[in-house]
Amino acid sequence: MTNEWLNSALIIDDDPIACELARFYFHQRGTPRISVAYNGKQALEIVEQSDNPIDFILLDLKMPEMDGIQFLRRMHLRSFSGTIGILSGESAGVISLAMDLARKHGLNVIGPLAKPMKAGVLDALFTAPQKVIHTTANSKSFKPTASDLDAALAQHRIIAYYQPIIRADTDELAGVEALARWDHPFQGVIAPYLFIPLAERSGQMRELTLQMISTVLHDIDLLNTLHPELAVSINLGAAVLEDTCFPDIIAKLVAEAGQTNDRFILEITESKLIDDAIAPMEVMARLNLMGFNLSLDDFGTQYSNFEQLTRFPFKELKIDKRFVQSSNTDVRSKATFETCAQLGKRLGMRIVAEGIETDQDWQFAKDLGVDKLQGYRFARPMPVSELTSWAATRNLDPVRIEVQELVAANHFANQHQGS
Ligand SMILES: [Mg+2]
Repeated sequence: MTNEWLNSALIIDDDPIACELARFYFHQRGTPRISVAYNGKQALEIVEQSDNPIDFILLDLKMPEMDGIQFLRRMHLRSFSGTIGILSGESAGVISLAMDLARKHGLNVIGPLAKPMKAGVLDALFTAPQKVIHTTANSKSFKPTASDLDAALAQHRIIAYYQPIIRADTDELAGVEALARWDHPFQGVIAPYLFIPLAERSGQMRELTLQMISTVLHDIDLLNTLHPELAVSINLGAAVLEDTCFPDIIAKLVAEAGQTNDRFILEITESKLIDDAIAPMEVMARLNLMGFNLSLDDFGTQYSNFEQLTRFPFKELKIDKRFVQSSNTDVRSKATFETCAQLGKRLGMRIVAEGIETDQDWQFAKDLGVDKLQGYRFARPMPVSELTSWAATRNLDPVRIEVQELVAANHFANQHQGS
Protein backbone atom coordinates (compact mmCIF):
# COMPACT_ATOMS: atom_id res chain seq x y z
CA MET A 1 0.00 0.00 0.00
CA THR A 2 1.05 3.62 -0.38
CA ASN A 3 0.18 6.70 1.60
CA GLU A 4 -0.29 8.94 -1.39
CA TRP A 5 -0.68 12.17 0.49
CA LEU A 6 2.55 11.64 2.37
CA ASN A 7 5.30 13.53 0.58
CA SER A 8 7.52 14.05 3.56
CA ALA A 9 7.98 12.36 6.89
CA LEU A 10 10.20 13.31 9.81
CA ILE A 11 11.24 10.62 12.30
CA ILE A 12 12.35 11.82 15.74
CA ASP A 13 13.81 9.21 18.07
CA ASP A 14 17.04 8.84 20.06
CA ASP A 15 17.06 5.10 19.33
CA PRO A 16 18.80 4.54 15.95
CA ILE A 17 17.16 1.12 15.48
CA ALA A 18 13.70 2.59 15.97
CA CYS A 19 14.61 5.29 13.42
CA GLU A 20 15.75 2.72 10.86
CA LEU A 21 12.57 0.66 11.32
CA ALA A 22 10.46 3.76 10.76
CA ARG A 23 12.57 4.89 7.80
CA PHE A 24 12.08 1.45 6.23
CA TYR A 25 8.32 1.73 6.79
CA PHE A 26 8.02 5.09 4.99
CA HIS A 27 10.48 4.05 2.27
CA GLN A 28 8.40 0.93 1.50
CA ARG A 29 5.28 3.06 1.19
CA GLY A 30 6.89 5.36 -1.32
CA THR A 31 7.31 8.50 0.80
CA PRO A 32 9.78 10.59 -1.28
CA ARG A 33 11.31 12.72 1.51
CA ILE A 34 12.24 11.05 4.80
CA SER A 35 14.33 12.85 7.44
CA VAL A 36 15.60 11.58 10.77
CA ALA A 37 16.45 13.47 13.96
CA TYR A 38 17.79 12.01 17.19
CA ASN A 39 16.24 14.60 19.49
CA GLY A 40 13.80 17.50 19.47
CA LYS A 41 16.47 20.15 18.85
CA GLN A 42 17.76 18.49 15.68
CA ALA A 43 14.18 18.01 14.58
CA LEU A 44 13.40 21.71 15.03
CA GLU A 45 16.33 22.61 12.78
CA ILE A 46 15.02 20.26 10.12
CA VAL A 47 11.51 21.73 10.37
CA GLU A 48 12.90 25.28 10.18
CA GLN A 49 15.20 24.59 7.23
CA SER A 50 12.77 22.50 5.23
CA ASP A 51 11.66 24.22 1.99
CA ASN A 52 8.50 22.19 1.76
CA PRO A 53 6.03 21.58 4.55
CA ILE A 54 6.45 18.32 6.47
CA ASP A 55 3.33 16.18 6.22
CA PHE A 56 3.95 13.77 9.05
CA ILE A 57 6.13 13.61 12.17
CA LEU A 58 6.70 10.37 14.04
CA LEU A 59 7.63 11.51 17.53
CA ASP A 60 9.27 9.64 20.41
CA LEU A 61 8.66 11.11 23.88
CA LYS A 62 11.72 10.34 25.98
CA MET A 63 14.77 11.91 24.34
CA PRO A 64 17.83 13.87 25.51
CA GLU A 65 18.16 17.66 24.97
CA MET A 66 14.52 18.32 24.03
CA ASP A 67 11.91 15.68 24.78
CA GLY A 68 8.71 14.98 22.86
CA ILE A 69 6.52 17.05 25.18
CA GLN A 70 8.74 20.13 24.75
CA PHE A 71 8.79 19.52 21.01
CA LEU A 72 4.98 19.52 20.86
CA ARG A 73 4.94 22.99 22.43
CA ARG A 74 7.39 24.22 19.79
CA MET A 75 5.20 22.79 17.02
CA HIS A 76 2.21 24.60 18.54
CA LEU A 77 4.15 27.89 18.49
CA ARG A 78 4.96 27.28 14.83
CA SER A 79 1.26 26.45 14.07
CA PHE A 80 2.45 23.19 12.52
CA SER A 81 -0.33 22.00 10.21
CA GLY A 82 0.89 18.48 9.41
CA THR A 83 0.03 15.38 11.40
CA ILE A 84 1.95 14.02 14.37
CA GLY A 85 2.04 10.38 15.50
CA ILE A 86 3.32 9.78 19.01
CA LEU A 87 5.34 6.55 19.22
CA SER A 88 6.71 5.70 22.64
CA GLY A 89 7.81 2.90 24.90
CA GLU A 90 6.28 4.75 27.86
CA SER A 91 3.02 3.53 29.44
CA ALA A 92 -0.26 3.95 27.58
CA GLY A 93 -1.27 6.55 30.18
CA VAL A 94 1.73 8.76 29.35
CA ILE A 95 1.13 8.41 25.59
CA SER A 96 -2.54 9.36 25.88
CA LEU A 97 -1.61 12.33 28.09
CA ALA A 98 0.85 13.49 25.40
CA MET A 99 -1.85 13.07 22.73
CA ASP A 100 -4.30 15.13 24.78
CA LEU A 101 -1.67 17.80 25.19
CA ALA A 102 -1.02 17.84 21.44
CA ARG A 103 -4.75 18.27 20.75
CA LYS A 104 -4.94 21.09 23.30
CA HIS A 105 -2.09 22.73 21.38
CA GLY A 106 -4.34 22.55 18.30
CA LEU A 107 -2.13 19.97 16.57
CA ASN A 108 -3.37 17.10 14.38
CA VAL A 109 -2.42 13.94 16.18
CA ILE A 110 -2.92 10.27 15.43
CA GLY A 111 -2.21 7.31 17.63
CA PRO A 112 -1.60 5.92 20.12
CA LEU A 113 1.45 4.06 18.82
CA ALA A 114 3.25 1.78 21.25
CA LYS A 115 6.84 0.63 20.71
CA PRO A 116 7.94 -1.46 18.92
CA MET A 117 6.22 0.18 15.97
CA LYS A 118 3.85 -2.11 14.08
CA ALA A 119 3.43 -1.31 10.39
CA GLY A 120 -0.18 -2.58 10.39
CA VAL A 121 -1.22 -0.23 13.19
CA LEU A 122 0.26 2.79 11.43
CA ASP A 123 -1.30 1.70 8.11
CA ALA A 124 -4.72 1.49 9.77
CA LEU A 125 -4.34 4.97 11.26
CA PHE A 126 -3.32 6.40 7.89
CA THR A 127 -6.11 4.74 5.94
CA ALA A 128 -8.89 5.79 8.31
CA PRO A 129 -10.82 7.69 5.63
CA GLN A 130 -9.73 11.27 5.08
CA LYS A 131 -7.94 11.38 8.40
CA VAL A 132 -7.33 15.00 9.51
CA ILE A 133 -5.58 15.88 6.27
CA HIS A 134 -8.44 17.28 4.23
CA THR A 135 -10.18 19.28 6.92
CA THR A 136 -9.71 23.02 7.07
CA ALA A 137 -6.02 22.85 6.17
CA ASN A 138 -6.02 26.55 5.35
CA SER A 139 -7.90 27.90 8.33
CA LYS A 140 -5.54 27.08 11.19
CA SER A 141 -4.38 30.61 11.75
CA PHE A 142 -7.86 32.11 11.29
CA LYS A 143 -8.94 34.00 14.41
CA PRO A 144 -12.50 35.24 13.91
CA THR A 145 -14.12 37.89 16.08
CA ALA A 146 -17.71 38.04 17.31
CA SER A 147 -18.57 40.54 14.59
CA ASP A 148 -17.12 38.24 11.89
CA LEU A 149 -19.41 35.54 13.21
CA ASP A 150 -22.36 37.94 13.30
CA ALA A 151 -21.81 38.70 9.63
CA ALA A 152 -21.55 34.98 8.85
CA LEU A 153 -24.83 34.30 10.65
CA ALA A 154 -26.53 37.17 8.84
CA GLN A 155 -25.35 35.74 5.49
CA HIS A 156 -26.35 32.18 6.45
CA ARG A 157 -22.79 30.97 6.09
CA ILE A 158 -23.10 28.43 8.89
CA ILE A 159 -23.75 25.17 7.07
CA ALA A 160 -24.22 21.55 8.10
CA TYR A 161 -21.83 18.71 7.34
CA TYR A 162 -23.26 15.26 8.04
CA GLN A 163 -21.45 12.32 9.55
CA PRO A 164 -23.05 8.90 9.02
CA ILE A 165 -23.88 6.78 12.07
CA ILE A 166 -23.88 3.01 11.57
CA ARG A 167 -25.96 0.30 13.23
CA ALA A 168 -23.56 -2.07 14.99
CA ASP A 169 -25.65 -5.19 14.38
CA THR A 170 -26.33 -4.86 10.64
CA ASP A 171 -23.80 -2.25 9.44
CA GLU A 172 -26.80 -0.38 8.01
CA LEU A 173 -26.93 3.39 8.05
CA ALA A 174 -28.71 4.34 11.28
CA GLY A 175 -28.66 8.09 10.92
CA VAL A 176 -26.50 11.17 10.48
CA GLU A 177 -25.20 13.81 12.87
CA ALA A 178 -25.32 17.38 11.61
CA LEU A 179 -22.13 19.23 12.47
CA ALA A 180 -21.65 22.97 12.10
CA ARG A 181 -19.17 24.37 9.59
CA TRP A 182 -18.53 27.95 8.57
CA ASP A 183 -18.43 28.33 4.82
CA HIS A 184 -16.09 31.31 4.67
CA PRO A 185 -15.67 33.17 1.36
CA PHE A 186 -11.87 33.41 1.71
CA GLN A 187 -10.84 30.90 4.34
CA GLY A 188 -12.82 27.95 2.97
CA VAL A 189 -14.78 25.59 5.18
CA ILE A 190 -13.90 26.25 8.80
CA ALA A 191 -13.87 23.65 11.55
CA PRO A 192 -16.17 24.17 14.55
CA TYR A 193 -13.39 24.38 17.14
CA LEU A 194 -12.43 27.72 15.57
CA PHE A 195 -15.83 29.33 16.10
CA ILE A 196 -18.06 27.38 18.53
CA PRO A 197 -16.13 28.45 21.66
CA LEU A 198 -16.31 32.03 20.33
CA ALA A 199 -20.07 31.74 19.83
CA GLU A 200 -20.43 30.42 23.38
CA ARG A 201 -18.42 33.29 24.84
CA SER A 202 -20.14 35.98 22.83
CA GLY A 203 -23.74 34.84 23.29
CA GLN A 204 -24.24 33.74 19.66
CA MET A 205 -24.99 30.07 20.33
CA ARG A 206 -28.77 30.49 20.26
CA GLU A 207 -28.68 32.03 16.81
CA LEU A 208 -26.15 29.48 15.61
CA THR A 209 -28.19 26.53 16.90
CA LEU A 210 -31.39 27.86 15.31
CA GLN A 211 -29.57 28.37 12.03
CA MET A 212 -28.28 24.79 12.14
CA ILE A 213 -31.82 23.50 12.72
CA SER A 214 -33.09 25.51 9.74
CA THR A 215 -30.21 24.22 7.60
CA VAL A 216 -30.96 20.61 8.47
CA LEU A 217 -34.64 21.08 7.66
CA HIS A 218 -33.64 22.70 4.38
CA ASP A 219 -31.52 19.61 3.57
CA ILE A 220 -34.17 17.14 4.68
CA ASP A 221 -35.37 16.13 1.18
CA LEU A 222 -31.82 15.16 0.23
CA LEU A 223 -31.36 13.30 3.52
CA ASN A 224 -34.60 11.45 2.83
CA THR A 225 -33.10 10.00 -0.34
CA LEU A 226 -30.82 7.93 1.92
CA HIS A 227 -33.77 6.66 3.91
CA PRO A 228 -37.18 8.31 4.27
CA GLU A 229 -37.02 8.03 8.05
CA LEU A 230 -33.31 8.52 8.56
CA ALA A 231 -32.61 9.66 12.13
CA VAL A 232 -30.97 13.08 12.21
CA SER A 233 -28.93 14.21 15.21
CA ILE A 234 -28.56 17.90 15.97
CA ASN A 235 -26.34 19.42 18.67
CA LEU A 236 -28.05 21.86 21.01
CA GLY A 237 -26.02 24.74 22.41
CA ALA A 238 -26.46 25.57 26.06
CA ALA A 239 -28.15 28.86 25.17
CA VAL A 240 -31.26 27.23 23.74
CA LEU A 241 -31.65 25.13 26.88
CA GLU A 242 -31.94 28.40 28.79
CA ASP A 243 -34.73 29.57 26.50
CA THR A 244 -38.09 28.21 27.62
CA CYS A 245 -39.62 29.16 24.24
CA PHE A 246 -37.16 26.88 22.39
CA PRO A 247 -39.34 23.72 22.39
CA ASP A 248 -42.15 25.63 20.65
CA ILE A 249 -39.73 27.22 18.16
CA ILE A 250 -38.15 23.93 17.05
CA ALA A 251 -41.50 22.12 16.96
CA LYS A 252 -42.89 24.86 14.69
CA LEU A 253 -39.88 24.68 12.33
CA VAL A 254 -40.15 20.88 12.13
CA ALA A 255 -43.90 21.00 11.46
CA GLU A 256 -43.46 23.67 8.76
CA ALA A 257 -40.96 21.36 7.04
CA GLY A 258 -43.58 18.59 7.09
CA GLN A 259 -41.52 16.39 9.38
CA THR A 260 -42.23 14.59 12.65
CA ASN A 261 -40.36 15.33 15.87
CA ASP A 262 -39.50 11.71 16.60
CA ARG A 263 -36.94 11.38 13.81
CA PHE A 264 -34.72 14.02 15.43
CA ILE A 265 -32.15 13.25 18.10
CA LEU A 266 -31.14 16.32 20.06
CA GLU A 267 -27.64 16.01 21.47
CA ILE A 268 -26.76 17.80 24.67
CA THR A 269 -23.26 17.91 26.14
CA GLU A 270 -23.21 17.04 29.79
CA SER A 271 -21.11 20.04 30.74
CA LYS A 272 -24.08 22.22 29.83
CA LEU A 273 -26.17 20.66 32.57
CA ILE A 274 -24.03 21.19 35.62
CA ASP A 275 -26.03 24.15 36.78
CA ASP A 276 -29.07 23.17 38.69
CA ALA A 277 -31.06 25.72 36.70
CA ILE A 278 -34.79 25.33 36.23
CA ALA A 279 -35.00 26.44 32.58
CA PRO A 280 -32.98 23.54 31.08
CA MET A 281 -35.03 21.04 33.08
CA GLU A 282 -38.24 22.56 31.77
CA VAL A 283 -36.94 22.70 28.19
CA MET A 284 -35.75 19.10 28.21
CA ALA A 285 -38.92 17.79 29.78
CA ARG A 286 -41.03 19.54 27.12
CA LEU A 287 -38.82 18.43 24.21
CA ASN A 288 -39.23 14.88 25.48
CA LEU A 289 -43.02 15.27 25.76
CA MET A 290 -43.12 16.56 22.19
CA GLY A 291 -41.48 13.37 20.94
CA PHE A 292 -37.92 14.56 20.30
CA ASN A 293 -35.22 12.07 21.31
CA LEU A 294 -32.65 13.40 23.76
CA SER A 295 -29.06 12.21 23.65
CA LEU A 296 -26.32 12.84 26.21
CA ASP A 297 -23.22 13.73 24.18
CA ASP A 298 -19.48 13.38 24.98
CA PHE A 299 -20.30 11.23 27.98
CA GLY A 300 -17.42 10.56 30.34
CA THR A 301 -15.66 13.89 29.82
CA GLN A 302 -16.24 17.25 31.47
CA TYR A 303 -18.05 16.95 34.78
CA SER A 304 -19.42 13.44 34.74
CA ASN A 305 -22.50 13.32 36.80
CA PHE A 306 -24.38 10.07 37.04
CA GLU A 307 -27.36 11.87 38.50
CA GLN A 308 -27.98 13.51 35.10
CA LEU A 309 -28.43 10.09 33.59
CA THR A 310 -31.36 9.30 35.82
CA ARG A 311 -32.80 12.79 36.25
CA PHE A 312 -33.16 13.70 32.57
CA PRO A 313 -35.11 11.63 30.04
CA PHE A 314 -32.19 10.67 27.78
CA LYS A 315 -32.84 7.89 25.28
CA GLU A 316 -29.28 7.75 24.01
CA LEU A 317 -25.78 7.95 25.46
CA LYS A 318 -22.81 8.91 23.28
CA ILE A 319 -19.54 7.73 24.76
CA ASP A 320 -16.75 10.18 24.08
CA LYS A 321 -14.17 9.26 21.49
CA ARG A 322 -11.23 9.56 23.83
CA PHE A 323 -12.30 6.36 25.69
CA VAL A 324 -13.25 4.56 22.50
CA GLN A 325 -9.99 5.27 20.71
CA SER A 326 -7.60 4.43 23.51
CA SER A 327 -9.48 1.36 24.78
CA ASN A 328 -7.16 -0.93 22.80
CA THR A 329 -4.06 0.30 24.51
CA ASP A 330 -5.08 1.82 27.81
CA VAL A 331 -6.73 -0.40 30.43
CA ARG A 332 -8.21 2.60 32.22
CA SER A 333 -9.93 3.89 29.06
CA LYS A 334 -11.16 0.39 28.35
CA ALA A 335 -12.64 0.10 31.84
CA THR A 336 -14.32 3.52 31.51
CA PHE A 337 -15.77 2.66 28.11
CA GLU A 338 -17.10 -0.70 29.36
CA THR A 339 -18.59 0.79 32.50
CA CYS A 340 -20.30 3.69 30.68
CA ALA A 341 -21.76 1.32 28.09
CA GLN A 342 -23.04 -1.09 30.71
CA LEU A 343 -24.51 1.67 32.85
CA GLY A 344 -26.31 3.21 29.87
CA LYS A 345 -27.69 -0.13 28.79
CA ARG A 346 -28.96 -0.93 32.27
CA LEU A 347 -30.74 2.42 32.24
CA GLY A 348 -32.40 1.38 28.96
CA MET A 349 -30.49 3.82 26.76
CA ARG A 350 -29.11 3.25 23.28
CA ILE A 351 -25.33 3.44 23.27
CA VAL A 352 -23.36 5.22 20.56
CA ALA A 353 -19.57 4.90 20.37
CA GLU A 354 -17.99 8.01 18.83
CA GLY A 355 -14.57 8.16 17.20
CA ILE A 356 -14.38 4.64 15.72
CA GLU A 357 -11.22 4.87 13.61
CA THR A 358 -9.85 1.37 13.22
CA ASP A 359 -11.14 -2.18 12.80
CA GLN A 360 -9.94 -2.82 16.35
CA ASP A 361 -12.12 0.00 17.72
CA TRP A 362 -15.02 -1.35 15.68
CA GLN A 363 -14.65 -4.91 16.98
CA PHE A 364 -14.23 -3.80 20.57
CA ALA A 365 -17.37 -1.64 20.45
CA LYS A 366 -19.33 -4.48 18.86
CA ASP A 367 -18.15 -6.91 21.53
CA LEU A 368 -19.40 -4.50 24.18
CA GLY A 369 -22.87 -4.55 22.65
CA VAL A 370 -22.83 -0.90 21.56
CA ASP A 371 -25.87 -0.06 19.37
CA LYS A 372 -24.46 2.53 16.98
CA LEU A 373 -21.05 3.51 15.70
CA GLN A 374 -19.66 6.78 14.39
CA GLY A 375 -16.18 7.73 13.23
CA TYR A 376 -13.66 8.03 10.43
CA ARG A 377 -13.63 4.22 10.05
CA PHE A 378 -16.96 4.65 8.27
CA ALA A 379 -17.03 8.22 7.06
CA ARG A 380 -15.90 11.72 7.83
CA PRO A 381 -18.48 14.50 8.09
CA MET A 382 -19.41 15.61 4.56
CA PRO A 383 -21.70 18.01 2.71
CA VAL A 384 -25.20 16.70 2.07
CA SER A 385 -24.44 16.50 -1.65
CA GLU A 386 -21.74 13.88 -1.01
CA LEU A 387 -23.84 11.65 1.24
CA THR A 388 -25.66 9.80 -1.50
CA SER A 389 -22.50 8.94 -3.39
CA TRP A 390 -20.90 7.85 -0.13
CA ALA A 391 -23.84 5.52 0.53
CA ALA A 392 -23.72 4.22 -3.03
CA THR A 393 -20.04 3.37 -2.95
CA ARG A 394 -20.06 1.47 0.32
CA ASN A 395 -19.37 -2.24 -0.09
CA LEU A 396 -22.14 -4.13 -1.76
CA ASP A 397 -23.43 -6.38 0.98
CA PRO A 398 -27.20 -6.99 1.21
CA VAL A 399 -28.14 -4.24 3.66
CA ARG A 400 -26.07 -1.72 1.77
CA ILE A 401 -27.69 -2.69 -1.51
CA GLU A 402 -31.04 -1.74 0.05
CA VAL A 403 -29.75 1.78 0.58
CA GLN A 404 -28.29 1.84 -2.92
CA GLU A 405 -31.54 0.76 -4.49
CA LEU A 406 -33.36 3.42 -2.58
CA VAL A 407 -30.97 6.08 -3.77
CA ALA A 408 -31.21 4.80 -7.34
CA ALA A 409 -35.02 4.62 -7.22
CA ASN A 410 -35.19 8.14 -5.89
CA HIS A 411 -32.75 9.41 -8.44
CA PHE A 412 -34.89 7.77 -11.15
CA ALA A 413 -38.07 9.31 -9.72
CA ASN A 414 -36.43 12.73 -9.45
CA GLN A 415 -35.20 12.56 -13.03
CA HIS A 416 -38.68 11.82 -14.29
CA GLN A 417 -40.30 14.44 -12.13
CA GLY A 418 -37.77 17.00 -13.24
CA SER A 419 -38.21 16.47 -16.96
MG1 LIG B 1 -22.54 15.58 18.99
